[in-house]
Amino acid sequence: MAVTSDAVIIGGGVMGCGIQFNLAKRGMANTLLLERDVLASGSTSRSQAILRMHYSNEVTAKMALESLNIFKNFEDIVSGPSGYVKTGYIIIVGADDSKAMAENVAMHQRIGIDTNVVRETDVREIAPMLAVSEGEAFAYEPQSGYADPYSVTTGYAHAARQLGATIRAGAPVTEIEITGNRVTAVRTAEERIETPIAVVAAGPWSGPLLATVGVDVPLRPIRQQVVMLQRSKDVVGDHPIIGDVVQDLSARPDTGDLTLADSSGDGSREDPDTYNQSVDMSAVEKTFTKLVARAPDMEHAVFKGGWSGLFTTTPDWHPILDRVDGIDGLYCAIGFSGHGFKLSPMIGMAMSELITEGEGVSVDISMLNLKRFAEGRLMRSRYAMQVLA
Ligand SMILES: Cc1cc2nc3c(=O)[nH]c(=O)nc-3n(C[C@H](O)[C@H](O)[C@H](O)COP(=O)(O)OP(=O)(O)OC[C@H]3O[C@@H](n4cnc5c(N)ncnc54)[C@H](O)[C@@H]3O)c2cc1C
Repeated sequence: MAVTSDAVIIGGGVMGCGIQFNLAKRGMANTLLLERDVLASGSTSRSQAILRMHYSNEVTAKMALESLNIFKNFEDIVSGPSGYVKTGYIIIVGADDSKAMAENVAMHQRIGIDTNVVRETDVREIAPMLAVSEGEAFAYEPQSGYADPYSVTTGYAHAARQLGATIRAGAPVTEIEITGNRVTAVRTAEERIETPIAVVAAGPWSGPLLATVGVDVPLRPIRQQVVMLQRSKDVVGDHPIIGDVVQDLSARPDTGDLTLADSSGDGSREDPDTYNQSVDMSAVEKTFTKLVARAPDMEHAVFKGGWSGLFTTTPDWHPILDRVDGIDGLYCAIGFSGHGFKLSPMIGMAMSELITEGEGVSVDISMLNLKRFAEGRLMRSRYAMQVLA
């Protein structure tokens, strides 16, 4: 007997699970999510999971703001805890970027984000461990923090199941079947699921999968290394999340006395099935050196390990949230470029609206379409640190 589904979601990371939950909430509960491995096993489980709202574009800043409200109230809105921890977020830019930062903050304040440009004297109060230089400028978001990607993903999955949706792990999709110009089925090695809708949310595997149906997407999976350090609590106490644009460094506190820090890699294209998932000592040294330059007392910190994950980047470091032109029923939520976790609640909502109503209603996502690359309408960031898109 043929299995039928109103929609098949390919990929059980935070995006796939969030989309499925939101579809079910909108009344489309007869959906099937297929995950090749286990839920959250891709980029999601490797995330630094920072929730900040400082962006250069209103669409992403707004999604980050509204997503943060969902992370804060996750138990009521979805299910279970999100693991949200409020730490505050401080962004540090050089003199050349101070005007851009002030313009960003003005835009953030206009859309309701709790943030301010702060002075060096304020920084000494907010984060006494930081060393700052002449000409640097700072902004602070007191509500920002981090959450737990595994809890968020499985929270969405649990809530989707409660609403009647189905999830199958250990079920790699082998084919998206197109008949004429429309999606008719999705196949795994075991089954063929008849469906008019396929949603590709396969993280760094999305490019090759879409290529099988002739869709070319400009995705480049690149390796990002996260270094875990144990602070000496007597020397460096709690600290906010640090977004150091001057040095291209990001660091956030974790439970206890741990700090997770990272800095950009070399940007080489990686294969998601074979890349090196551990950290290189050269990356540890580079990140540690930058961190000590910014927070000198961190020189007492002890290296505790780390991991690597993949950023699935697009040319403008913004995601592609779209229905694919020319193939009815094919959608994609891909290319999150290393900053998707903080946006995921609103991505799930907006994608479910795109699928059921034809457009993002809660937030206008039309500028994040696929054709912007061919048409040369790329999104712009005000900073060179591209993950701050
Ligand atoms: C090191 C690192 C640090 C990060 N830090 C932050 C941060 O601080 N803040 C932030 O907001 N974001 C951060 N991110 C980015 C964020 O984690 C990602 O944008 C987000 O997790 C992407 O989720 P996803 O569901 O699109 O992809 P994934 O989590 O990769 O999920 C895709 C899923 O699809 C499955 N799949 C693939 N192919 C198939 C197939 N053929 N059939 C079935 N299933 C398939 C995979 O197994 C995988 O589980 C970071 C990412 C990394 C790697």
